[in-house]
Amino acid sequence: MPGMSKNKELLMIPGPTPVADEIYDALAGETYAHTDPRFVQNFKEALELTSAMLGCPGEVYLVCGTGTLAMEIALINTVKPGEKILVISQGFFGDRFIQLGQAFGIQVEHIKSQWGEQVDPQEVKKILATGGFKAATITHVDTSTGVIADLETLVPIIKDSGALVILDGVCATAAVDEDMSRPYGAKGYLLDVVLTGSQKAIGCPPGMAVVAFGEQALASRAAMTTIPAYYADIVLWRPVMQDPTKYFATPAVNMVNAYHAAMKMVMAEGLPARYQRHLKYGRAVRAALAVYGMKAIATEAVAAPTLSCILYPPGVEDAPFRKALAGKGLVLAGALAALAGKAFRIGHMGNTTPEMLTSTIKIIGETLQELGHTADPAQAVAVLQEHLA
Ligand SMILES: *Cc1c(COP(=O)(O)O)cnc(C)c1O
Repeated sequence: MPGMSKNKELLMIPGPTPVADEIYDALAGETYAHTDPRFVQNFKEALELTSAMLGCPGEVYLVCGTGTLAMEIALINTVKPGEKILVISQGFFGDRFIQLGQAFGIQVEHIKSQWGEQVDPQEVKKILATGGFKAATITHVDTSTGVIADLETLVPIIKDSGALVILDGVCATAAVDEDMSRPYGAKGYLLDVVLTGSQKAIGCPPGMAVVAFGEQALASRAAMTTIPAYYADIVLWRPVMQDPTKYFATPAVNMVNAYHAAMKMVMAEGLPARYQRHLKYGRAVRAALAVYGMKAIATEAVAAPTLSCILYPPGVEDAPFRKALAGKGLVLAGALAALAGKAFRIGHMGNTTPEMLTSTIKIIGETLQELGHTADPAQAVAVLQEHLA
């Protein structure tokens, strides 16, 4: 169990997530020269650990920035302006690829699911059959809805069309299996690009963009002479990733050290155990909240292990509810777009402990009572613990 003594609040939002003491210690350490052998060693190990986590057969890039920069690096190093992509969107973050592609003159077609549901794979197949798609983007877990994408079905459909698969793992990586060396579907299709950020299931503060490219994606970059980017061009970063003593732009030294500490914790826990823990957390939190009459917008079959988007029961108002919780040190997130005010989002990922989940469920129940609703916190905590056992 990670040491969590430095967290004064219960930060139960879908990122940033609670940070373990060892990670804070790494972040707060002395700032070394970016060429210092101690730092270079941490950077190398951070790259190796990331590559091992993702089973990456190609190249991993760690660049200071957030998940959105990782999306940008992934897209513009594989798709040229004028080429066409299909954005497969299951919510707000899926949609972000539409604007991102358009900002670079990429032709974007999209398919959107109803919020709370997965897209229909047959519709994806139909659109791809119209031809000419260089890549398709999938958001592994859409943080607006708590819906997980069905990679086993989507990846073969996309690869059969000849397009590259770009996977946004920002709210999934390190909590849900993403293995670039593992074939998806009967013909052994691979993920081409997986991107993520540091502050969600990896459990580090925000600040690192992580992008892993497979061989086919790298061939795509190699076939382009120039891309409309400088800081986001992997060709300029490549020498640094191969040898972190090299300089392109100053790496955020403390951030790399923190990410290194976070990745050591991820790999020390072990991926299968970590994936199981998140499955358990997701089911436990949703079952416990159901005791309060609170229901996830996603059915259990498509609900994510990392966060849940929960509808308010009649009478519970978003703003006063979350304000009362915040007064007790429990931070939950509001819902986005059409769900704003009607639902809240709760993260249950990364370094979050069973004790944190227990306190969260208890505080939510007590707060409901204080606001004049009926709730049984003891029962909800019992249900949580039964699922966590
Ligand atoms: C949070 C998130 C992003 C954006 O990441 P930032 O770090 O906020 O830039 C992109 N995609 C998904 C799925 C996310 O959850």
